Amino acid sequence: MNKYTTVFFLFVFISTSVIHSQKIQLNGDIQPASLIVGKCEQVDYIRFEQKIIRPDKEGNFILAFQKDSDGTRYIPFKLSNGKVKIVKIDLPARKYEQEKLILKTKYVSAPEKENERIKSERKLMRDAKDIIAKTDTAYFLSGFTIPIKGGRISSQFGTERIVNDVKKSTHWGLDIAIKKGTPVYAMSDGIVRLTGKNFYYSGNCIYIDHGLGLYSTYLHLSEILVKENQLVKKGQIIGKVGSTGRSTGPHLHWGVAWLDISIDPLSVLKINDSFILNSIGMKNLPE
Ligand SMILES: [Zn+2]
Repeated sequence: MNKYTTVFFLFVFISTSVIHSQKIQLNGDIQPASLIVGKCEQVDYIRFEQKIIRPDKEGNFILAFQKDSDGTRYIPFKLSNGKVKIVKIDLPARKYEQEKLILKTKYVSAPEKENERIKSERKLMRDAKDIIAKTDTAYFLSGFTIPIKGGRISSQFGTERIVNDVKKSTHWGLDIAIKKGTPVYAMSDGIVRLTGKNFYYSGNCIYIDHGLGLYSTYLHLSEILVKENQLVKKGQIIGKVGSTGRSTGPHLHWGVAWLDISIDPLSVLKINDSFILNSIGMKNLPE
């Protein structure tokens, strides 16, 4: 190797390492209410939809758009060298299903005597979410799995619920109808932050913190098999399907959220484990 080729190789090495250091990689379905797992280097923070997102020490971060967002977004990544890199994302509009339900009168609006109970249950859920919002360990790097084997999807994420002919609510999770007692698995590694016992709406329920603001919920269980603050592994049995709380039959309500944004649970299954663990083949967005 002569002097000139050495200089040439040195130049290529330096220039590629500079480009590499500012690479921003996103993995997942780029659409509303979908989990996006990102990896970057030398990024101080991301300005994302009125939030400031700080990647962890390894450059991992999570993003998710609200369910009804659409149009073009320009997302500034503030680099540690003081520069700003803008990532452009075009969001398709998503359509959601409608579902008509006839419920027993007592479930349409909660009786007044239950108000205090519902209030205290909401506080427990809020407290769990406050802890989740501060967790800076990316437990979800273990990848994702479906929390139940078999069953039938009885209500999709985002379904508009029309209860006794009145538009009542949006369904913020995925319902899988299956027989009582079916094992329920943790969708990813994480820490159990809440085990709710017979909540008025959610029945027996579990909240798992997967880190960086991502969490999953499992409602209407017949049994809870984990304890608060316990570390659980992806695919570990955490409980059993039931019909506790506001439920019309045995099913698992599986919820996923990032901070205050609800995510379509099925979108987490589109994150390929090997992408996360090896950072290979991630989608590079145009600069
Ligand atoms: Zn549900």
